[in-house]
Amino acid sequence: MDLDALYKLTHGLYILGTMDGNRPVGSVVDAVMQVANKPMVVALSCNNQSYTKECIEKNGEFSLSVLCKGVDPFVIANFGFQSGRNVNKWENVDYCIVDNMPYLNDNIAMIRCKVLQSIIYDSNTLFIAEVTDSKNNKDCEPLTYLDYRSYFKEEVMKKFQEVKQQKEKEKMAEENKNEGKHWVCTVCGYVYDGDVPFEDLPDDWVCPLCGVDKSFFELQ
Ligand code: FE
Repeated sequence: MDLDALYKLTHGLYILGTMDGNRPVGSVVDAVMQVANKPMVVALSCNNQSYTKECIEKNGEFSLSVLCKGVDPFVIANFGFQSGRNVNKWENVDYCIVDNMPYLNDNIAMIRCKVLQSIIYDSNTLFIAEVTDSKNNKDCEPLTYLDYRSYFKEEVMKKFQEVKQQKEKEKMAEENKNEGKHWVCTVCGYVYDGDVPFEDLPDDWVCPLCGVDKSFFELQ
């Protein structure tokens, strides 16, 4: 089978949202299409590993935020490269809750759906759902999955790495500041105070005073 042939079936790229109790969860999806207009019905396919999918199965409703071509690549990275099981993805973006469904503020259209039936495959679950509310917000060309594959993916990855590293640094700096802890050489008592975080020092780094390696340092 030639998978490249299937990549030519291109769709948009959307932020899928639903609620996990009181907590909004979400992910990036591309497999959404309208399949009827009386009633107004769409089909949505979700990966079976997706936590958002689990939550949709529980509460029977979901939201779609349609993205504009100019959307911040971080939005895709935030919703696409992490799992809602352990991260509150919505906290990292500007969003609103409308009638208990989350939407990205930077959307060009909002669509709310109620699941009518689902079909479970080994890899995916297909939800057939009725549109219960929708709002067209901006005249902007929608981002497509083809855009993502042809030029957007690299930007998304880069942005994600940047933000992740920045956050880790901030977290570490905050922790060190709050706790007033330092990496101390257990052999000679040297206190590390370099600009590079201790964890980022190369493995062959040694104590400038007594010459032992990093494993002799303790956070004190
Ligand atoms: Fe030392």
